[in-house]
Amino acid sequence: MSKPSFIRVIIDRAIHRELDYLVPETLAERVGVGSRVRVPFRDKSGLATVVSVLERSEAKGIRSIEAVVGEAPILSGQMLELARWISAYYCCSIETVMRSLLPQVIRRAEVGWKKQLFVRPVRKIDNEEIEKLRKRAPRQAELLEAISRLGTPMRAADLLRQTSLDNQTLRALVRRGLAELREEAVVRDPHADEQFIATSNLVVNNEQSLALREVTQALDSPENARPILLHGVTGSGKTEIYLQAIRAALDSGRTAIVLVPEISLTPQTVERFKGRFAEAQDAVAVLHSHLSQGERHDEWHKIHSGRARIVIGARSAVFAPLKNLGLIVVDEEHETTYKQEEAPRYHARDVAVVRAKIEKCVVVLGSATPSLESYHNATTGKYRLATLTQRIDEKQMPLMRIVDLRQERRKEKAAAILSEKLRAAIADRLEKREQTILFLNRRGFSTSLLCSNCGEARNCPNCSVALTFHRQSPKAFGAGRLSCHLCGHTAAVPKKCPACGRDALIYAGFGTEKVESIVAQIFPKATVRRMDADSMTRKEAYRETLRNFRTGKIDILVGTQMIAKGLHFPNVTLVGIINADLALHLPDFRAGERTFQLLTQVAGRAGRGETSGEVFVQTYTPFSPSIQFARHHDFAGYFQQELEFRERCDFPPFKHAILITVRSPHEARAKFSAETLVRRLRELLGSEFILGDPTPAPLEKLQGQFRFHILIRGEAIMRLSRLARETLDKLPFPEDVTVAVDVDPYQLL
Ligand code: ADP
Ligand code: ZN
Repeated sequence: MSKPSFIRVIIDRAIHRELDYLVPETLAERVGVGSRVRVPFRDKSGLATVVSVLERSEAKGIRSIEAVVGEAPILSGQMLELARWISAYYCCSIETVMRSLLPQVIRRAEVGWKKQLFVRPVRKIDNEEIEKLRKRAPRQAELLEAISRLGTPMRAADLLRQTSLDNQTLRALVRRGLAELREEAVVRDPHADEQFIATSNLVVNNEQSLALREVTQALDSPENARPILLHGVTGSGKTEIYLQAIRAALDSGRTAIVLVPEISLTPQTVERFKGRFAEAQDAVAVLHSHLSQGERHDEWHKIHSGRARIVIGARSAVFAPLKNLGLIVVDEEHETTYKQEEAPRYHARDVAVVRAKIEKCVVVLGSATPSLESYHNATTGKYRLATLTQRIDEKQMPLMRIVDLRQERRKEKAAAILSEKLRAAIADRLEKREQTILFLNRRGFSTSLLCSNCGEARNCPNCSVALTFHRQSPKAFGAGRLSCHLCGHTAAVPKKCPACGRDALIYAGFGTEKVESIVAQIFPKATVRRMDADSMTRKEAYRETLRNFRTGKIDILVGTQMIAKGLHFPNVTLVGIINADLALHLPDFRAGERTFQLLTQVAGRAGRGETSGEVFVQTYTPFSPSIQFARHHDFAGYFQQELEFRERCDFPPFKHAILITVRSPHEARAKFSAETLVRRLRELLGSEFILGDPTPAPLEKLQGQFRFHILIRGEAIMRLSRLARETLDKLPFPEDVTVAVDVDPYQLL
């Protein structure tokens, strides 16, 4: 390539325009597509990414770049192409996409390598010299002796610890010219201290072998491979297929990305991958949200430089800068946490499919409960379908029992939390020394505080939701307080009703904290622990609870979705779903889908060992289809009826949706802006798009802002995105009105 004299860049700030700059001769060698540069912009300077190299530029008053940031280009042309697709599809600026594509430490390049001091001998030193020194400075002599034995440079801190000598002694030796200290970059590896037991490929069963063949064939001719949907019941050995597919990709000189939901990125998961590829621990990079800036910097470079060849991570790992990508695995592809809820509002599974297309690599989407979108793609031939119907070793699917809470309630009031049947089942497991998981997707002790006189609930002043009562809570809330789960607002529990002044307050609704306390009361001899965002504020607490559960020190584990995913405990033979109706009554067209998925996933935690499992599903709506289909492990039946419903109502996968949220601290202004926007959209959008009136969002008020929703549906999503963008760019909104566009929305509140 000829030396660039002009470049086009995207500045980190949202100016919706690409700019040209001149490259001075002295910097030309170091600039290419994907480089980061510092450029003058207006009267300041800013960082930017080079998107193309030009021979000439028509720009007037062109200015020179100031510096090149970092060494090598950090974005490939293919990643730039991906960025442009995300910007167009998700209706957001390219600058916003860049922010997600490149971690902040890499964009800014202000955090560098960690430097450490290493010691090494200056020259060959004989015994005589050491003895001479010993007379005057015995400690220096001792250290010199240790240094002279070193084969390779050693970290100064380690050497001093080993010899129990101090830094002063070392400095004295350096001054005498007998030792040398040198600063060297070291890699921060958060897993460096862990040992991984090497594992090798298992002998796959028939179904696995067929599924694996789909993947390896695709790896052989990736140019025309379709995405593969791996639909395998929980415990059917999907992970084994991922592992062997990755091995195949590596063997052919390619690299691989494995996406897992953040919540499943547990030590257990990491261990499985690091263990299988233990021959080179460095080969596996792990990206998760708990990394420090320094660790993130090092992992990123480990990947970018090609030292790491496998990346495991949550959502944003789909942007891992691997070269020669052969395979992307998206585990639990139905998980809604793959959707980013702030701009760019991308869905990592869909981005993975597009990245695979751009880079001509294979993509495998795995799930026990595929999303309706993906399964529809598989049945219409857009994706290939591989199916695992059996659990490994023909273990039985757990027996699902539905408990009708309406009947239980007639018997006694407390039954609304633990039905008699579930209680008896727990008692039975305790006797047999087997373990139980109780699941409830709601934190806290009581979910509202009501006045039995006037009926007023204690609501959050900033959001339109009731405050949750937490009896004990280590985190921000403080014990025995009311708190808002949306904005974090907390309040003391009033003695009397602030509305009517009567001493008539009652607690209503219940969360995991109350379940834990009731279970502990009913089974005083059992060890009960809770696992949710309140009790697991420290990473260590999480590991410790899991360890104790695995080693049998805990009999009953109560928790939120934190315990629903990916965990594998052989001795759990009972799972209780405390309230299966929670998701069903949300105003969301995916409510049924979520309930089916949740029940199936949670049930998958039972009976993963020798004894088969049993699941109790407590519900007030025992005949709702998602519950009935989940009960019979009937994915096909559920899929068919859900698909019919979606088609009838023009919802995905038949139509794409765009949700526009208009919000403002002033209700009238939000409403007015939403109405203006809809009027403008009506003029522009043809009849092929379905555009509703603006409506107050189900969650009308959030963090002090009033919210209005506009839902648009249609098939030609790229065009719809473009039209929406154009309309928004032209409309002047009042300063305190914010408009957010969500393409393929998952959060409809
Ligand atoms: P999934 O990801 O579908 O839930 P896993 O891959 O976790 O299932 O497999 C469940 C268990 O079965 C794991 O302990 C795994 O090691 C084991 N397993 C998977 N495949 C085989 C096989 N072919 N032979 C023996 N054990 C297997
Ligand atoms: Zn609030």
